[in-house]
Amino acid sequence: MAPLLESGWLFLITHFSDFQLATLGSFIIHESVFFLSGLPSVCFERLGLFSKYKIQKKTNTPAAQERCILRLVLYHLCVNLPVMIASYPAFRYMGLKSSLPLPHWTVVLSQIVFYFIIEDFVFYWGHRILHTKWLYKHIHSIHHEYATPFGLTSEYAHPAEILFLGFATILGPALTGPHLFTLWLWMSLRVLETVEAHSGYHFPWSPSNFVPLYGGAEYHDFHHRVLYTKSGNYASTFIYMDWLFGTDKDYRKQKALQSGVEKNFEE
Ligand SMILES: [Zn+2]
Ligand SMILES: [Zn+2]
Repeated sequence: MAPLLESGWLFLITHFSDFQLATLGSFIIHESVFFLSGLPSVCFERLGLFSKYKIQKKTNTPAAQERCILRLVLYHLCVNLPVMIASYPAFRYMGLKSSLPLPHWTVVLSQIVFYFIIEDFVFYWGHRILHTKWLYKHIHSIHHEYATPFGLTSEYAHPAEILFLGFATILGPALTGPHLFTLWLWMSLRVLETVEAHSGYHFPWSPSNFVPLYGGAEYHDFHHRVLYTKSGNYASTFIYMDWLFGTDKDYRKQKALQSGVEKNFEE
């Protein structure tokens, strides 16, 4: 890893304890990445910017956006932070370390690819279970309150769902016993991915245009705007789980119809 990164890391581990870095440090990084990446789509929607790339015509009222933000701040402080503190011994048990040298970039990359694959698999099944009648009504319907999602709605969910699906996020790191650096990078990339999937905008530079098998905003937006029994598209990051288990059929149908209409329109 780059010398500048190593000296920055040395500063952190000499000034803060492992406990402080793994709990408060992780919390600060999570909040910064989440709000900085999620706020632009709130502003775009409010100011009517990039409306050409907005997936749905509908927009959220400022009051609806503010309600989401207020509830998120409350949940993050009262659920996420205490969970991060309480789970510290478990992370230590998993083999979490923060010492130098930082892991080689090939190790970091392969672990993060593995985390994305395993998270997507577990999330898919967990999310499918949350779409059964009782669990949807009592837990998952909160996440679906926003049928027109915007970046910050990605973490707007019942606390039980945060814990349930959070398991998918930590399973990969639990299996490999990661370095704190890798854990922070994984957490940041996973937040960026889910915020993008909920952004409500499909830009020419959106990752789904370039990354093979990546779902992205159009894919997850369909999940939010269609009735919960018919929505499909349960996976978090990739498209192959829904394809393998046939839960993307309605989405594919709608995409085919849409491209047919666009073709006719062009002719
Ligand atoms: Zn859902
Ligand atoms: Zn969602």
